[in-house]
Amino acid sequence: MRVLNSDVIVVGGGIVGCSAAMFLAEAGMDVNLLERGEISGEASGLNAGSIGGFGWGHKPGLQEHLTMGSLDIFKSLQIEKGHDIEFRQSGSLVAIHSPKQYEYAQERVSFLKSEGMQVEILSPAEAKSYEPNLNSDLNGYMYSSNRGQADPIKSTRAFSEVAKRNGAVVTTSARVTGLEQSGQGWIVRSYDLVFNCEVLLIATGAWTSEIGKMIGLNIPIQPVRGQMWATDSLPPRIFHTISSMESSEYWHKNPIVNEDSPPELTHDRDLRVTRHLYGRQRANGEVIFGGDRELLGFDDDVSFTGIEVNKTHAGEVLPFLDQLSVTRTWSGLMPFSPDGLPLIGRVEQYENLFLATGLGSSGFGRGPGSGMLVADLIVRGEAHPALQESTPSRLIEEINS
Ligand SMILES: Cc1cc2nc3c(=O)[nH]c(=O)nc-3n(C[C@H](O)[C@H](O)[C@H](O)COP(=O)(O)OP(=O)(O)OC[C@H]3O[C@@H](n4cnc5c(N)ncnc54)[C@H](O)[C@@H]3O)c2cc1C
Repeated sequence: MRVLNSDVIVVGGGIVGCSAAMFLAEAGMDVNLLERGEISGEASGLNAGSIGGFGWGHKPGLQEHLTMGSLDIFKSLQIEKGHDIEFRQSGSLVAIHSPKQYEYAQERVSFLKSEGMQVEILSPAEAKSYEPNLNSDLNGYMYSSNRGQADPIKSTRAFSEVAKRNGAVVTTSARVTGLEQSGQGWIVRSYDLVFNCEVLLIATGAWTSEIGKMIGLNIPIQPVRGQMWATDSLPPRIFHTISSMESSEYWHKNPIVNEDSPPELTHDRDLRVTRHLYGRQRANGEVIFGGDRELLGFDDDVSFTGIEVNKTHAGEVLPFLDQLSVTRTWSGLMPFSPDGLPLIGRVEQYENLFLATGLGSSGFGRGPGSGMLVADLIVRGEAHPALQESTPSRLIEEINS
């Protein structure tokens, strides 16, 4: 048995854990990150790579710090720290398929503008001047210049590399198998490795409820399956990130599909309630799209029916996609919380225990901001005001044995 000492142990090598490890190491802390598989082996390496928000607005809250804060961190990772993560601030276009969706988009845009955000509705002709392959028969497109894209695997690994450059030790194939409070610190076990640390940060995404059980806590994070498909590589044909207003308009009126599920899913058990769409063209030329959000436990098998529905939806927005074949598919598990908000902050039931998870379907774009805010809390001992909205104690309970 080997015993090692560390200021902070970060559990989980997704974008949240790796970015937190980077900020902690940059602040001079002695950091060990433990990942049970590979860095970016789960959701952080399997997502669509869409990032950014609508702007900082007049009164930046949690969402703005997570979206726009992360956008700045992605930029600095590529531009200042010199990692090619295929970052582009491309802007985004959201397809509006019906008069009902158009009415909802108008309400949403006027609300966002009143909050100081940069967003507008374009006619199909205006949108086609930005993105020539769009369908001109739709009702319009919502445009935001602040959105961007980056490669998920390259980005997550770059955070881990910068953490290592600043002294962090990153260990893969190191599943955490036991946790125990010892005085004010922690004993963390990974098979025959034992770590003593002062501070423990849990960033285990969809698997966080399993970690909670190790220390008698119910941390209600549920795994939600997302899935994607890709075409062969093509010359550049799509320049923005592309999505659809269909699901937003549905979830605005029906946020919960059934009382046991987290908000904003595409399915109520086996029944599809809405279609959801997001995608882009990667730097290697592949066109990638995805959408479904299903609550199926830890089952991450791809549903080909879902892929077909999603491909048809994508073809309604970009008709040239109808001529192309799907060359590969994949899926991943997203960490959803019961109220749709993340859990980032101190866990009050124990000393020196912190959590950063529950980022749902947009944790790639909001992960670096989460890593920065939780690292700042650990280093300074004081929470940024934006974290009031994400306090873990609102949802965590002790398990009564
Ligand atoms: C198909 C799909 C498309 C998506 N598209 C987008 C998008 O375009 N934009 C966007 O912003 N978000 C998107 N997301 C969501 C985003 O990927 C996630 O919200 C985000 O990656 C979560 O990051 P994380 O670090 O919390 O979790 P993860 O990336 O899942 O990392 C958690 C890590 O913890 C490790 N772990 C778990 N248990 C243990 C243990 N006991 N010991 C050690 N390690 C452990 C896991 O192996 C894993 O590597 C998408 C997700 C999917 C699946």
